[in-house]
Amino acid sequence: MGKKNKTAITPTREDDYPAWYQEVIKASDMAENSPVRGCMVIKPWGYAIWENIVRQMDIMFKETGVKNAYFPLFIPLSYLEKEAEHVEGFAKECAVVTHHKLEPDKENGGLKPAGKLAEPLIVRPTSETIIGESMAKWTSSYRDLPILLNQWANVVRWEMRTRMFLRTSEFLWQEGHTAHATEQEAKKRTLLMLDVYTKFVEEYLAMPVIRGRKTPSERFPGAEDTTCIEAMMQDKRALQAGTSHFLGQNFAKGSNITFQNEEGKEAFAWTTSWGTSTRMVGGMIMTHSDDDGLVVPPRIAPAHVVILPILKKGSDNREVLDSAQSLKDALEQKQFHERHVEVEIDNRDIGGARGWDWVKKGIPVRVELGPRDIEKNCVFMARRDESKKQSMNREEFIDQITDVLDNMQDNLFNRAVNRRKENTFEIDDKDQFYQLYKKSKGFNNGAFVMSHWCGSDQCETDIKKDLSVTIRCIPFDSPTEDGHCICCGNASSRRVLFAKAY
Ligand SMILES: [Zn+2]
Repeated sequence: MGKKNKTAITPTREDDYPAWYQEVIKASDMAENSPVRGCMVIKPWGYAIWENIVRQMDIMFKETGVKNAYFPLFIPLSYLEKEAEHVEGFAKECAVVTHHKLEPDKENGGLKPAGKLAEPLIVRPTSETIIGESMAKWTSSYRDLPILLNQWANVVRWEMRTRMFLRTSEFLWQEGHTAHATEQEAKKRTLLMLDVYTKFVEEYLAMPVIRGRKTPSERFPGAEDTTCIEAMMQDKRALQAGTSHFLGQNFAKGSNITFQNEEGKEAFAWTTSWGTSTRMVGGMIMTHSDDDGLVVPPRIAPAHVVILPILKKGSDNREVLDSAQSLKDALEQKQFHERHVEVEIDNRDIGGARGWDWVKKGIPVRVELGPRDIEKNCVFMARRDESKKQSMNREEFIDQITDVLDNMQDNLFNRAVNRRKENTFEIDDKDQFYQLYKKSKGFNNGAFVMSHWCGSDQCETDIKKDLSVTIRCIPFDSPTEDGHCICCGNASSRRVLFAKAY
């Protein structure tokens, strides 16, 4: 082994992956922990990434006929109880509001809650039950269907162990809710939204995903079918990047969403729900970032280029500053997908720390511009996904900027695809399966393993208990083939995806 290069982030991924992750977030100035346990403060650089995610996904949802709406933050306890599996699934992580005012506490001083509510309110962990209540009101005939809604909101799930972006008690997300006249239509919608998620995550976040179906034990509480997309992080763990649920008539029955069908008969609607959250940002960080900090795919980057003018002390630097401004203006004329190229100029006088700040923030392209570059009509540029820097003719650079960004976007995606390929194995031998995961730890958290599974809960539970490995999904494209369950050896007809997961 050669001697280690100095990195901007300590520890490195190899040394301590979870600590590296926290440090990347800190060094990029995306977010920080808040005084409230389990909640985070999303700072402008992190929030701009989320805004770009929201803007693009919103366009994609609307292209499928979905409209946005907003429903209350509080859900009466009795609503949540309408679907038995649902309330059971969320009961252990609910924030509950029981009082509506404060009054002086005469015994202990200060204030104490008062005005007990007749019925406790739950801070929404998800909104099926309260949206169902509205849908029931709005639906009387088959002509009122389908209802295709989405809500951009925050939700609360009281997590005991939290990590910024990946698992926080309060998080930002979107939740789609649809109601349909037929089972077939609802099933089609479930898959359509999974397609939208796949397209967004692969084309914008540059994260390749495996599409599939959850096993019954991993389903959304109350769903008949949960479909999902799963991505491999650099430590070879899986991250669920989005889910789309076919809810059958379970929630329609709970909320009484009925309608007169074409034959004039009263029928229950068929519903779906689907969601993605700020977790995707965590996935993006863990897919692309390196030991020098954050790496952001250009298509969702808050800005694409930073210009770093080389300034001389004691000079007014007029020429360099004007040249930087005109370069910014020229670049911003360029269209990059749905936005124009966005450029920052950083004039801070902080020496070498200035360039490193932008490396750690993951801006796609850095440009240095000094008097000598201006004389030669050149810029000195560096791409965040490559270590080399190069001098380029200024006009050429302006002409090629969108190609450079597209190329970086593709490079990040291809790198992730290759990493997944290199770390995905078909295993048919139980010992081999156990050895692989038993010796995996830290940065090297095993692999994606495609193995046969007989379909029993028991085998799934045993593997989870022994190895903390779960079935991430039954991939849609896994072919039918004869085999034997990796756990019990019974007959199985297809392979499923096993991994350790976030
Ligand atoms: Zn089995």
